[in-house]
Amino acid sequence: MKLLLVEDNLDDADFLAASLRRHKVEDVELFHVTSLKDAVQALEKERFDVILLDLHLPDGSGVECVDTIYATEQATPVVVLSGQDDEDFALSMLNKGVQDYLVKWEGNTQTIMRAIRYAVERKRSEIRLNYMAQYDTLTEIPNREYFNDQLVRATARARREGRKVALLFLDLDQFKVVNDTLGHFAGDKLLREMASRLKQSLRGGDVLARLGGDEFAVLLEGLDGPLDAETIARGILDVVSAPFQIEGREFNVTTSIGITMYPNDNSDAPTLLKNADIAMYQAKEQGRNNYQFFTQKMHRDLLHYHQLENDIREAIADEQFTLVYQPKVNLVSRKLEGLEALLRWHHDERGKVSPADFIPVAEQSGHIVPLGAWVLAEVCRTINRWQATGLPVVPVSVNVSARQFQQADFHRRVADVLRHQAIDPALIELELTEGLLMEDTESAQEALSSLKATGVRISIDDFGTGHSCLNYLRRFPIDVLKIDKSFVTDVESGGDSSVIIEAIISLARSLNLKTVAEGVETRDQLNFLLDRGCLVAQGFLFGQPMTRQEVVPFLQDLMEDEPGFRTSRLPAVDVA
Ligand code: C2E
Ligand code: MG
Ligand code: MG
Repeated sequence: MKLLLVEDNLDDADFLAASLRRHKVEDVELFHVTSLKDAVQALEKERFDVILLDLHLPDGSGVECVDTIYATEQATPVVVLSGQDDEDFALSMLNKGVQDYLVKWEGNTQTIMRAIRYAVERKRSEIRLNYMAQYDTLTEIPNREYFNDQLVRATARARREGRKVALLFLDLDQFKVVNDTLGHFAGDKLLREMASRLKQSLRGGDVLARLGGDEFAVLLEGLDGPLDAETIARGILDVVSAPFQIEGREFNVTTSIGITMYPNDNSDAPTLLKNADIAMYQAKEQGRNNYQFFTQKMHRDLLHYHQLENDIREAIADEQFTLVYQPKVNLVSRKLEGLEALLRWHHDERGKVSPADFIPVAEQSGHIVPLGAWVLAEVCRTINRWQATGLPVVPVSVNVSARQFQQADFHRRVADVLRHQAIDPALIELELTEGLLMEDTESAQEALSSLKATGVRISIDDFGTGHSCLNYLRRFPIDVLKIDKSFVTDVESGGDSSVIIEAIISLARSLNLKTVAEGVETRDQLNFLLDRGCLVAQGFLFGQPMTRQEVVPFLQDLMEDEPGFRTSRLPAVDVA
């Protein structure tokens, strides 16, 4: 064991040397210096196992001594030496990371040696803990904390040296598949293999870290420009795309990379990381297995998203949302067959905001859950108001988004609202989209059955635009297919759309489902639908979505014997 003694009092130094000699402590090599300056020099030249440090030296005293030593060397344990009168002070040095203190030469050699050995031990476990705090135990590469640390340093260096830093944010594209199909053990193996491949594709000084899950980050320093970062990103895509052998099976995995450059994107370390993350999402959206540089536009989009999200949150609290109702007309009886509730939002500054703009943001942010609950409750209140004035009512459909449907207790929430408002469940139809059912067909099937058991009707909105597996469709307890308006719009152009509509109608017939055509705007579209046997339609031809007061005359019509959809209120429609 190599021991560095920093002590200007020669008597004290001799005392220690003599007692070590006397007790034949042979595995200790003692180096003695008398000033901080010499200590620093010695530490720069050689590695020691322990430093014994006096706190009164010719070129520094107290805390200064400890700081000077740590500025040169942090990995070596330090034991400070104190006189009897400043023991409290020495004790306070323990808070500075010093391993131990010895009151000058109070104990015998054994006590001194024990203190030294303990100090070395403690330092070892401290280093180990430090390592664990900075390294990812699974992949044995640095973790997020270490990476953040390095990022702060790297940006400071880049500023000084006028060079560039690139931050690459990686997210594996198919990790979930491996994890779900082969289990966590295989997933871990993939991550380890991934880390070692990434390490090999980087240069010596580059920092690779695992940020968590299947996210990795790379820090590249001393770059001339984005081209250098691009080359490395390409290299990474390459090494990742070679097949992986896991559990005797071959897997192809790709990764999406977001890149941000400093100082081009002049932000602090956390923002850089966030920006690279934003760019990574862009890469995912571009079809995965590619890289994207962060741009200010992404930043603006995100800002826009957050502002909108915030306004939606406020709008829910302030009850700025309203509902309008669009008629669904039975083409044979020419009576109102049903209504679809549609959200409307008038914002003080934004003006009218289209559902096409705010629904996706409400979905992504989760606001759709309380908002959707409000819609259902409001529809129930409206039905009750109509019924209270003696009006006949028709079923009202409510759009349900993925986030709502995915709530484990969604069916119960629906049942609760209906019961609470004393609404006949047959008056409520829930519109779901295909994608929602196809994602996880088994649990969707269960969720649908529970919903169906509450007594509501279920329809598939925008049918034909998703990738329906018709086999599954058979197993879902569905009542209605709504033919997407894009097909209806195109029907006159004589393309595929008319064939698709025919197919949907005949499929519905074979499954005993009703069909409703959406977005009917012209007489020709209407006639086409009637010819093919689609008997219910919705669209501007019959009416724009209306307020609940505007709906009243149409409900009154239901009580008359005459075919209801009187042409005075709606554009004349020739129905056979
Ligand atoms: P959707 O459920 O497919 O609703 C039909 C949309 O088509 C409505 O747009 C309606 O105004 C529009 N439309 C009706 N007839 C015609 C027509 O003849 N021609 C054309 N070009 N369009 C027609 P809106 O109200 O802008 O809603 C858009 C989408 O926003 C809805 O599509 C629905 O997916 C979503 N949405 C609206 N309200 C809600 C809601 O309360 N909850 C949820 N989750 N989504 C909603
Ligand atoms: Mg709908
Ligand atoms: Mg639709």
